Amino acid sequence: MKRGIIRLKFVLLVLASVCYSYAQENYAAQRQRMLKEQLEPRGITDKATLKAMGSIPREYFVPEAQKPFAYQDRPLPIGEGQTISQPFMVAYMTQKLELSTSDRVLEIGTGSGYQAAILSQMVDSVFTIEIINSLAQVAIQRMVNLNIRNVAVRIGDGYYGWKEKAPFNAIIVTAGAERIPLYLVEQLAENGRMMIPIGPNNGVRQLVLIKKKKGKIKTRNLMPVRFVPFVRQKQ
Ligand code: SAH
Repeated sequence: MKRGIIRLKFVLLVLASVCYSYAQENYAAQRQRMLKEQLEPRGITDKATLKAMGSIPREYFVPEAQKPFAYQDRPLPIGEGQTISQPFMVAYMTQKLELSTSDRVLEIGTGSGYQAAILSQMVDSVFTIEIINSLAQVAIQRMVNLNIRNVAVRIGDGYYGWKEKAPFNAIIVTAGAERIPLYLVEQLAENGRMMIPIGPNNGVRQLVLIKKKKGKIKTRNLMPVRFVPFVRQKQ
């Protein structure tokens, strides 16, 4: 009787590990399909962006119930009323930042940590600020578990940027603001690039690319987008 139970336990263990490795392979295949079907045909050509999107496990950055949908062509809920952007939007914003391996990047809106993890593969260091404590804690744990060491997460209102770590070669804001936050523009280095969705909180915003050259700012609207709102900490 006892032997039978031990054998059953063994069989179940083998079965579980077969299922687990099948699921992992399945995610890797889905990730490759995402590159081929969602990113490359829509103009994502930057090799470093594609490499990062092809290696960071997106399924690891979404809640358990969302894992089967991790590679779908849409944003997903990550808790606290927030969302992880659609894969194409992450890749597009990343590509438009024209990153170099020596760059220091500031992100406002850590959320799940996925965008920061993508950036971590492409630049020297990433500084990311999240206003919701519980999301920041989970994101920090994910970086530790994935052995990503060049991402620093700070809890707080990203409106003021991260002055002690400025200037940044690139800044990415992943929440929609009503106006361009001037503290962030100030913390942009010479030749710096910034991506930010700008527009009314109850409407469609424009994804805006800002470039700083010889201390002057140039802005360009790239496309209409929907993003969760950039909120302010109550004083
Ligand atoms: N980049 C994230 C998605 C972010 S969703 C990812 O890859 O998963 C937008 C995030 O911005 C939310 O988590 C929200 O809490 C955060 N946020 C909104 N206003 C903020 C502010 N003023 N400072 C810092 N984070 C803010």
